[in-house]
Amino acid sequence: MAEPAALADTVAALALVDHHAHPVLGGNLSRTVFEELITESDRAAPAGTTWFDSQLGIALQRWCAPVLGLLPNAGPDEYLARRAELGPAEVIRLFLRASGTACFLVDTGYVLDGMLALEPMAEAAGAEVSEIVRLERVAEQAVLAGDATAAGFAETFRAALWDQAAGACGVKSIIGYRFGLDFDPAPPPAAEVTAAAGRWLGEIDQGSSIRITDPVLLRHLLWAGVERGLPVQVHTGFGDPDADLRRCNPLFLRAFLERSEPSGVPIMLLHCYPYHREAGALAQAYSHVYLDVGLALNHVGARASAVVAESLELAPFGKVLFSSDAFGPAELHYLGALQWRRATAATLGAWVDSGDWSAADAARVAAMIGAGNARRVYRLP
Ligand SMILES: [Zn+2]
Repeated sequence: MAEPAALADTVAALALVDHHAHPVLGGNLSRTVFEELITESDRAAPAGTTWFDSQLGIALQRWCAPVLGLLPNAGPDEYLARRAELGPAEVIRLFLRASGTACFLVDTGYVLDGMLALEPMAEAAGAEVSEIVRLERVAEQAVLAGDATAAGFAETFRAALWDQAAGACGVKSIIGYRFGLDFDPAPPPAAEVTAAAGRWLGEIDQGSSIRITDPVLLRHLLWAGVERGLPVQVHTGFGDPDADLRRCNPLFLRAFLERSEPSGVPIMLLHCYPYHREAGALAQAYSHVYLDVGLALNHVGARASAVVAESLELAPFGKVLFSSDAFGPAELHYLGALQWRRATAATLGAWVDSGDWSAADAARVAAMIGAGNARRVYRLP
């Protein structure tokens, strides 16, 4: 006879490794700013509507309100008033600790004013925090530092990456955002990199933004990341409208995955939704491919167990990782962990109930996805 309550307790008690999160945001957040941070849209909610009327908004009122001492399902105004009353430091401390996350791997590539640095975040959470270095930002900062030339770009970038990744546990590529995953899979020849760097530096001199969008440079950064040897996180699937979702299907990565497989460097497919089934097929096919459905679990709310179940169809269980992909309000770091725990306990518990799985296998696989796989792949202590 299955014991679903016991499995839920086991999953609830797991000390998680959140393998893809962003820094937490301090400061008092107005309703407008808070609403902007609970959607991936970069548009304001249309007049007469609110972003609280979404799966994430409802889940936030249901599950986060009690952490702040309110009854479940507090309305947005009551919720935000309580948040302001407690103050940002206490709100951050409460949510990060309530998440039960023992280790956050934090992407430092995009930071808003008021976001906590890694050390204060670790202190607030009472948890370990390790850095994931974003390749595009390393290149952009190397150029902003002013000493890059077209011919010297590759070496300047390499030196900066090797230096900045020295204390990091992984690197991240946002080629999906800046171009799309349908890129030429080969590492670009040195002469092409020099020519592309020359065009880029010329555009910056003409007043263009520093943002790298040239596919030759983006491919060069990605392959340098593989060469660096740490796990390489790749944005795929759902994100803000800056990315063309159609071109973020991880199936476009097939030729790149075949070329990078001999390196043995783990390729971590982030987010994946709504292509998590495709990502699962890739994780089964290629020895170095891993996936998560982090961002989706917060955004699909009450449907999280459906997404977790689909992410466990084809993907081998040693290739699936928990993440929150939380960015900004500490509610998202908490809610991502909570939704993962609830969805995982519900999904695996149903398979135990139906007689398909043993309770021991369910508990073991939950621990792998929640922490063990990340500790092994990122070589965490
Ligand atoms: Zn992210």
